[in-house]
Amino acid sequence: METTGFTKHDHSRCIEQGVAAVDLACKQQGLQLTKIRRRVLEILLARHNALGAYDILEKLRAEGFSAQPPTAYRALEFLVSHGFAHKIEHLNAFVSCVKPDAAHVPVFLICAHCHCVAESCMKPAQNLLGHVAAQSRFQVQETVLEATGLCPNCQETG
Ligand SMILES: [Zn+2]
Ligand SMILES: [Zn+2]
Ligand SMILES: [Zn+2]
Repeated sequence: METTGFTKHDHSRCIEQGVAAVDLACKQQGLQLTKIRRRVLEILLARHNALGAYDILEKLRAEGFSAQPPTAYRALEFLVSHGFAHKIEHLNAFVSCVKPDAAHVPVFLICAHCHCVAESCMKPAQNLLGHVAAQSRFQVQETVLEATGLCPNCQETG
């Protein structure tokens, strides 16, 4: 398992690689990465923090996109439904996915202090809940794995 978001890294690569990965996935799946969808993705990729739909809408407006709420919400919905972004239920907010090209169950570690969010990826087969559900012959449609706490940086600054 790897965790992106808490460790120091060259963040410009996150944005570049994130957009490139989604671009490729869209081409492979015959999906349209429209201007607004791409821009919403870039806004999410810009930081490792979760953003509410309203924050995203505000940013689009500030940039001169004459975005009506449904347009921004539909762009978000597109990104989430294809696994390019995830909704953090705990925060009612969105983050870009760190592995948009691989099937995974996202695990979110949410810092209660600086609000950064790290996503770890589990293979569906490694998912503990998946095992429990299988034993009960339960068909899982969606799993939400979120933990709140303090990120390494905030622990250091006490
Ligand atoms: Zn980054
Ligand atoms: Zn993900
Ligand atoms: Zn923190």
